[in-house]
Amino acid sequence: MTIAENITSITAAIAKACRDCNRDPATLRLVAVSKTQSPEALAEALACGQRVFGENRVQEGREHWRALKKGYPDLRLHLIGPLQTNKVRDALELFDVIETIDRDSLARELAKELAKEPRATEFYIQVNTGEEEQKSGVSPKDLPALLALCRDLGLNVTGLMCIPPQKDPPALHFALLKKLGDRHGLENLSMGMSGDFGKAIAAGATSVRIGTALFGARA
Ligand SMILES: *Cc1c(COP(=O)(O)O)cnc(C)c1O
Repeated sequence: MTIAENITSITAAIAKACRDCNRDPATLRLVAVSKTQSPEALAEALACGQRVFGENRVQEGREHWRALKKGYPDLRLHLIGPLQTNKVRDALELFDVIETIDRDSLARELAKELAKEPRATEFYIQVNTGEEEQKSGVSPKDLPALLALCRDLGLNVTGLMCIPPQKDPPALHFALLKKLGDRHGLENLSMGMSGDFGKAIAAGATSVRIGTALFGARA
């Protein structure tokens, strides 16, 4: 399957999942996860009209997109991996949406950099819905305090993101993220990957992050 064929079939699957729960497919954003992909693969996705991409490392994101951004002013880049405070400036320079705020120190550093150089960056908070020790994300019980801090700092937090534990049915975690989003007035929910995006859409996802189903298995 080519990337073009994959995009066509994923778009159709997204549309079907939306219809099945009476949602308008236009309300759903496909974030093409381009980590580890070759320049040729990125070019092919761009040629298909795909403009929203997700990267999980700042450095790799820069290598992939810094030059291309000039030629594609409508590109929207999402950071979907953990962000170290010493990479904040580079991240703000490249990404339109940073989905992985997960701690106070990171929120403060982002606000500090934005005070020096204002930008229209959108932020999501990553929630560790499974409370897994090794996974980043704020635990659900600590979300209200982190969100309050972000709002105090003036960060434009518009959504939540989660990565469910491998061992659990993902729908439980998607439902929890939806509940937290509703409770806190956050309209964007980034949840669902290649294997479970239909379930995420049914649960209220507004964006799905898809790598393997679009580009093929990663090396
Ligand atoms: C790699 C990655 C994805 C994409 O996963 P696939 O199963 O390849 O679709 C989604 N979200 C995050 C945070 C990732 O790191």
